[in-house]
Amino acid sequence: MKTKQDWESAAAALQLDGRAVINGIRTATEKTSENISPVTAKSLTDVSECGQREVDSAVASSRKAFETGWSKMTPGARKSSLHKLSELILANADELALLDVLDMGKPISDATTIDIPGSAAILNFYAEAIDKVAGEIPVTDAGNVALVRRVPLGVVGAVVPWNYPLEMAIWKLAPALAAGNTVVLKPAEQSPLSSLRLAELALEAGLPEGTLNVVTGQGETTGAAVGLHKDIDVLTFTGSTQVGKYFMKYAGESNMKQVWLECGGKSPNLVFADTANLEEAAEFAARAIFFNQGEVCSANSRLLVERSISEQFTELVIAQAKKINLGNPLDPATTMGPLVDSTQAGRVADFIASGKTSAKLSHGGSRLTIDGSDCYLEPTIFTGVATSSSIATDEIFGPVLSIIPFDTESEAIHMANDSIYGLAASVWTANLSRAHRVSDALHAGTVSVNTVDALGMNIPFGGFKQSGFGRDLSLHALDKYTGLKTTWIRYE
Ligand code: NAD
Repeated sequence: MKTKQDWESAAAALQLDGRAVINGIRTATEKTSENISPVTAKSLTDVSECGQREVDSAVASSRKAFETGWSKMTPGARKSSLHKLSELILANADELALLDVLDMGKPISDATTIDIPGSAAILNFYAEAIDKVAGEIPVTDAGNVALVRRVPLGVVGAVVPWNYPLEMAIWKLAPALAAGNTVVLKPAEQSPLSSLRLAELALEAGLPEGTLNVVTGQGETTGAAVGLHKDIDVLTFTGSTQVGKYFMKYAGESNMKQVWLECGGKSPNLVFADTANLEEAAEFAARAIFFNQGEVCSANSRLLVERSISEQFTELVIAQAKKINLGNPLDPATTMGPLVDSTQAGRVADFIASGKTSAKLSHGGSRLTIDGSDCYLEPTIFTGVATSSSIATDEIFGPVLSIIPFDTESEAIHMANDSIYGLAASVWTANLSRAHRVSDALHAGTVSVNTVDALGMNIPFGGFKQSGFGRDLSLHALDKYTGLKTTWIRYE
């Protein structure tokens, strides 16, 4: 097993390249920005700031690749290219894992066991779907036949966040490419490196030039240019609710492109007194908020606990939080790394300061500097949280848990649903009727019972309300990247 020193040496040996990949070519731009790592607090490399010109040329290249290359390849050839890309991801797993760790601070042990193999597996899933999803022949009057096919829509713009840099990109581009579209990918400004490397691997895997372009830069400039582009047919986004709304506006102001949004959350975890194993529930509750530094859209950041067990359960969750190993993410023993950057660490620290004025800080709460980086936040737990306070209503996107007691099932459901978000929820109970009743009543895209944040690549993932619409993962994701096309034939 590799040690921290091994990973540090491997990181030092990386040849980092922050230039955009447009039409198969590394493309330098006039303007660049420094890519500061939250691990080292130093610049990793300069990254291209793509402006209108670069976005135009990326879209033109993707359009050409769509019309003459990728969508014209046989399904078998597309399938083997995507399988090859999956193999290349695994062959370059350490490098890709390091790029994500250096860019956004997740523990190397998570990047190597979850993000990278997960990305490769998702590509294989959609590669296999290419020749397994068939069209329909609906019932028609005699002498007619109607053929309903799923056709690719053209050029897909994908704008993604920094919390799972490679994996979020793959969630979008794997089904989009499998359906026959080409993609212009805009990674988050904090975490562009794995996407850029992925574009190189895609060329090596045999995807024609322009099939996957990567334009780097800020959201307000590069992201907006993608959202407003008149020759992009579909815009698929993961990120905050606020920016998701911009993309709906951009579509209205440009070409009415289809927009699919996976946005924020403030997911509740409901723990009833009849839970069979409270220690296990506490272990899961801690994982549900502290995993990936709490930078998870479906993080269970509101813990609603039946009052009769709330003190006991709080102690159990605090005991779990104490086991977290906060430190340099290149150390394989680390289970929580720094937040993505100083800005995000400051934002979370502000939430903690505001929480201290309205609730009891029961664990953590400090911002730490480790190895020169000030991006570390202790796992933090507030109790006695008022449901109207900002730590109970706002998406913090950091390791901050609000524990709120409830007295009755209906009160718990009401509090859980009292949110602008509806991404995920968890329920702990040994009562089967209650499990069904409460799950049915929760307004969330995914409800996990006696577990947290359950996820599978063949299961749809996405939210209701201001958590967005459309589903990632599963065959349903193909709905976003295809249109139903009907051909009527009257033969009598
Ligand atoms: P963000 O919304 O700030 O940025 C996401 C992407 O949008 C980035 O690529 C960014 O450059 C771009 N962007 C920002 N401002 C823009 C603008 N004005 N115009 C066009 N593009 C713009 O989100 P983030 O801080 O990178 O990520 C955290 C957010 O992502 C959280 O709200 C989290 O819940 C959400 N998220 C959701 C899911 C999900 O599946 N629902 C998954 C992961 C993250």
